Amino acid sequence: MTSNLDRRARTHLLREDGQEDVCFATYAPSTGAMRTTAVLNDLVLPSRGERQVHGNVSFSGSYVVRAASMAASQGLGIALMHSHPDGAGWQGMSLVDHTTEHSYARLAETITGYPLVGMTLAGDKTWSARKWHVDRGPHDAESVRIVGTKLQVSWNHRHRPGPVSTTAQVRTVSAWGEAMQANLVRLRVLVVGVGTVGVDVAIRLVQAGVQHVAVMDFDTVELINLDRLLSATRLDAALHRSKVAVALRAMRAASTALEPVLAGHDLSVCEPAGETMALDYDVIFSCVDRPWPRAVLNQLAYSDLIPVVDGGLAVEPFVDGGMRNATWRAHVVTPGRPCMQCSGQISGAQVARDRAGLLDDETYIRTAGLRPPSRENVSLLAPAVTAAMLGQFVSLTVAPGGLGVPEPLRFSLSSHTLEHLPVETSAGCTYEDATGCGDRRPSLVKEHPAAEITRQNRAHRARRASVRVRRFGQDMLEAAARVIKLC
Ligand SMILES: [Zn+2]
Ligand SMILES: [Zn+2]
Repeated sequence: MTSNLDRRARTHLLREDGQEDVCFATYAPSTGAMRTTAVLNDLVLPSRGERQVHGNVSFSGSYVVRAASMAASQGLGIALMHSHPDGAGWQGMSLVDHTTEHSYARLAETITGYPLVGMTLAGDKTWSARKWHVDRGPHDAESVRIVGTKLQVSWNHRHRPGPVSTTAQVRTVSAWGEAMQANLVRLRVLVVGVGTVGVDVAIRLVQAGVQHVAVMDFDTVELINLDRLLSATRLDAALHRSKVAVALRAMRAASTALEPVLAGHDLSVCEPAGETMALDYDVIFSCVDRPWPRAVLNQLAYSDLIPVVDGGLAVEPFVDGGMRNATWRAHVVTPGRPCMQCSGQISGAQVARDRAGLLDDETYIRTAGLRPPSRENVSLLAPAVTAAMLGQFVSLTVAPGGLGVPEPLRFSLSSHTLEHLPVETSAGCTYEDATGCGDRRPSLVKEHPAAEITRQNRAHRARRASVRVRRFGQDMLEAAARVIKLC
């Protein structure tokens, strides 16, 4: 849920008189490859006579029908929320809770077509949640995420116990304490684009102990990448290894978690399978520079409430040599902060051209008088972009001083100035208007021919390279055998 909705629900459910209370919320499902999330939309507060507060709380069947009918008219499901004012941490269900939720699970699902979600708010502001199956009963959620300028997560310790920190993490833990570390390392983090900055970000995350880190990229390591791609070798380029495989190798070597769960997705986030995979994660790093994938991530930040840490480097060389300036910027795309379109990072026209494949068409770029995509990149400056993005990630998750993420930040190298960019959400922003719509998001994904061609080329070239390596290996053996004979 958004932090705004969390605040409104707490105001209603945690009463000044200390009694329990109840309300409904509508939700949209958000379906990933491995997990389903109920993205809360709005509260349906009780009208007069629909609930009675008497220490505990009870409510009428007509309240359930009203909330479910309202949700159904918008194509949404409902969540039944109640409070345990004296509770702390993830809450179990009392017999009364179980009986009440069970008795309305079938009715809610019949009216809305979606399973009833039960939620409990403890007095210490911890949420707990479960999804009801009308025959099999409740299934406990893994976590409840509150998303805004901070990401606050209530963890179900039974499903996701906080990992024990390792000796290798002592210095990291000393920065923010065991409890914060346990929160941080349980987040599922996806890095989209493992070029210069992406691979660096992924390595830093696993070094800090984050358990679930995945990388997504469809590209292949080339010789031209070696001046800035951490851990990539000439052999990787010669064997046409995928960037994902090379990043994973570096991540496995760097991880300090006891049981790391690292994954590589050889996909584009613009493909349906890539988008579905992305929905399994709690935070996404956008380390891609093309407008289409950035638009897809920009959308997920609002429609599915997955904060996206975005950043990039722009180098301005003089045409006759030398450098005019370099700037790098970083921001978090999340409810409460403007989206990439409002902050001028992408435009509808650029996204449409990229989706149509026109940005891969040099003839079109020339005849349309467009600037070709910028290719300047410098390994000496890339760590500054990584640092700027990781700083935003720490602000989002650890929130030093209780503050969350700032407005977009931009550093200018020539003048050494850091600007807080005063951008605001535009009226009628379609991305931010779609906040919380989950699977009903307007689709931006489709087949991505450039990704498909890159994967096919790699498979073809890798087969030829592996034949060469096998032959080379045989020659070496024969040469060694001759040397041994001579000896
Ligand atoms: Zn209860
Ligand atoms: Zn916007």
